[in-house]
Amino acid sequence: MTMANSGFPTRLAFAQAQAIVREVASAQRLPPEQRAVTRTAGSVLAQDVIAPLALPPFANSAMDGFALRADDSGSGASLQLVGEQFAGLDAGLAIGPGQCVRITTGAPIPAGVDAVVMKEDVRVVDGRLHLAAAVAAGKHVRPAGEDVAVGDLLMRAGTRLSPAQASLAAAVGLAELPVSRRPTVAVFTSGDELRPPGQTLRAGEIHDSNGSLLLNLLLAEGLDPVAWPILPDDPARMRALLRDAGEAFDVVLTCGGVSAGEKDHLPGIVAELGAIHFWKVMMRPGMPVLFGRIGQAQVLGLPGNPVAVLASFLTFGRQLLRGLQGDDRGAPTAHARLTQALAKSHDRREFLRGQLLPGDDGVLRVRPHPATGSHRLRGAADSDALIVLPEQAHAWAAGDVLQVLPY
Ligand code: AMP
Ligand code: MG
Repeated sequence: MTMANSGFPTRLAFAQAQAIVREVASAQRLPPEQRAVTRTAGSVLAQDVIAPLALPPFANSAMDGFALRADDSGSGASLQLVGEQFAGLDAGLAIGPGQCVRITTGAPIPAGVDAVVMKEDVRVVDGRLHLAAAVAAGKHVRPAGEDVAVGDLLMRAGTRLSPAQASLAAAVGLAELPVSRRPTVAVFTSGDELRPPGQTLRAGEIHDSNGSLLLNLLLAEGLDPVAWPILPDDPARMRALLRDAGEAFDVVLTCGGVSAGEKDHLPGIVAELGAIHFWKVMMRPGMPVLFGRIGQAQVLGLPGNPVAVLASFLTFGRQLLRGLQGDDRGAPTAHARLTQALAKSHDRREFLRGQLLPGDDGVLRVRPHPATGSHRLRGAADSDALIVLPEQAHAWAAGDVLQVLPY
């Protein structure tokens, strides 16, 4: 479509577009909420976490064995076995010189004890423990506070939480963490040619494959997206549905209808109902991508070609969704060595499909997929990463290291 440019940037450099997404997202930070630590992986921490408890909370045994005084040990020493302390409630035992206690891993160290000997290294005969060698003070004892002291800063606001971080919070006794609310996302695919999978195609129709691509990508982001029925290429219908979605969701993702064809109505509708932050980025595929706002929702209009959907979602889509939650580091990237030479003839950022492979030198390798057309979905399914070819360069040799976006 042709549309008068009402002041929004167009044909932006990729980095400029990224900067706009980052800025808009950080101005629209979603509010914090409490979330159970059993459900926080992938969520973004809204406040620093300070340790309310030391770890370990008490000195405990690192082994199954016998707790004793190191001074009493030595080759041939024999100690009186006076009790048992298993992991669980502290029995309050105290031992004197020449005595020892049976103990299990994680059990509190009884008073008077300063070392543990492994059960494999001793013999017990008639209630007495016989040692084969001296035991150093502190051996197999995990001191209180060794890992975490009360008041330690454990995690900073803005951290995208890992399973290990969730478990650290649980270990210091926190049942919930303050995280940014997850964005609600509406997904619209659009096009008169589209039929949902499971329905029979009529002449000229194809199945809506981008809907499944986007919904699965969003699920992998830990989100719970809502799929709307396929939008027809009908401006009135699109306008009505997008206006509703703009009132109800944090993010509206659309796909198709954003380019320059007669049926590409999206840019005009976003401009009319809200505002366009930018339209068209110097990237390939994905050039027509549009970023704007309708109502309270940020709208990302992805182009219809499947590989363009991947390229624009993995970059701008993830950046927007994570940025709204207070994580402005963007999506994680990796690096891999090319298995073959590559070249491009333009100055746009290009995204190629590639298959990641283990490398002999410990560096990942990536094999570019021979199908290059952005409509070719099979090449995307046979690959597991996009290879990023930066704007300035035009040729790469086999063995060169490039950024990749795993998906
Ligand atoms: P458009 O951006 O609407 O011009 O679409 C570009 C190309 O992508 C066309 O070949 C469309 O048929 C195709 N396409 C658009 N949306 C989808 C979709 N949801 N699933 C599969 N292909 C699509
Ligand atoms: Mg279309």
